[in-house]
Amino acid sequence: MQKTIVENVSIFDVHKGEMVEAQSIIFGPTIESVGNDLRKEKDLQVIDGNGKFLIPGLIDCHVHLEATTAVNWAEEMMRKKTSTYHYIALSNALKHLKVGFTTLRDCGGGKWGSGLRQAIAEGYVIGPRLLVAQWTIGQWGNQEAMGPDEWIQLQKSREVLSGIDGVVHAVRERKRMGSDFIKTMTTGGVLHGMESKLERTLWTEEELAAMVQEAYRLGMHVAVHAHGRGGIVHAAKAGVDTIEHCSFVDEQGISLMKQKNIYLVPTQTSAFMDKPELMKQLPPEVQQKTIEVDTAMLENHKVAFEKGVKIACGTDAGVPGNPHGTSARELTSYVQNIGMTSAEALQSATIVAAEAIKLNHVIGSIEVGKSADFILLDKNPLEDIAMLENLNNLSMVFCRGQLVAKQGKIVEF
Ligand SMILES: [Zn+2]
Repeated sequence: MQKTIVENVSIFDVHKGEMVEAQSIIFGPTIESVGNDLRKEKDLQVIDGNGKFLIPGLIDCHVHLEATTAVNWAEEMMRKKTSTYHYIALSNALKHLKVGFTTLRDCGGGKWGSGLRQAIAEGYVIGPRLLVAQWTIGQWGNQEAMGPDEWIQLQKSREVLSGIDGVVHAVRERKRMGSDFIKTMTTGGVLHGMESKLERTLWTEEELAAMVQEAYRLGMHVAVHAHGRGGIVHAAKAGVDTIEHCSFVDEQGISLMKQKNIYLVPTQTSAFMDKPELMKQLPPEVQQKTIEVDTAMLENHKVAFEKGVKIACGTDAGVPGNPHGTSARELTSYVQNIGMTSAEALQSATIVAAEAIKLNHVIGSIEVGKSADFILLDKNPLEDIAMLENLNNLSMVFCRGQLVAKQGKIVEF
């Protein structure tokens, strides 16, 4: 790969939360030097960064690449060929990449995950860096194992198991499948009907502890979906790494999350409140849960942030009303609803997110030795983070040192 220099550009320092003017950066697949007076070697490709702003590639810690935003997602799953999801996932991954999200953590999909990750990493197809959970580990007798017989058969093949032996085996099976991390649920979900209770706490303490312990032993971290306060406290006590949604987090949850350095992944753009047309299509009991969760989420995340819980950007992209490629809206929401500054919102999708998913040695900042994942912007995002939602402002996106998109369009190569 030919080395490139971007000259005379303002670079976002993720540690200080400010732009540093008149910088240059030399990179191949990784960043080789950064500073204001770099010695130029011969044969460098030169990009003039005058008047532009350079930020690290963005990270979305919670997407579902196989999800198509369909309201009738469960029926849709029963109609599609399993292998179709490989292509849906790739197509959706590109929608994120072209708007500057160069790393995605997929929080639960099918078996396609590790294969797509490998195909991208080995250069067969372009795409963002992926961390994949593949199949979530769900508790038997909850949302993953209810409904028609065909659905139950599908879930049986996903090993929704019980007991300590069951969860340990399930973790090992995910490792065999190539999962980077474990995704489980300690409460019910919004979109799963009334039997899936938000306030019900899933897994016994022993089961959850065994799952976390086995995941760590095998070098994986643990992400937990939790809405209700009991499930949040349960997950936090077990010492998981990230808590997703975290809608009804209370004082006890907040203090445990701080004490154990657990990151909150908000997924605020999955809220339906501002989408009345979509709401109408949902079953009445799901509508009810939606209203409760959406209201609680915004209030409680604000309190958690003010009290010092770390917030890592994650959107739940792929669920109804939350299309792939619109994750920048999540950062605007943090400024509007949590009270972050634009710099803090940017940190939540760069260095904080990188720490949350254990990749801060590779991505999340513009520093020598890290992957050359960054976006060159026409305007300063610290003045208004919402500028990231306008594709015209995204001058160039680089991933692993390769120019992959301009103004929201994938480039040919
Ligand atoms: Zn999700």
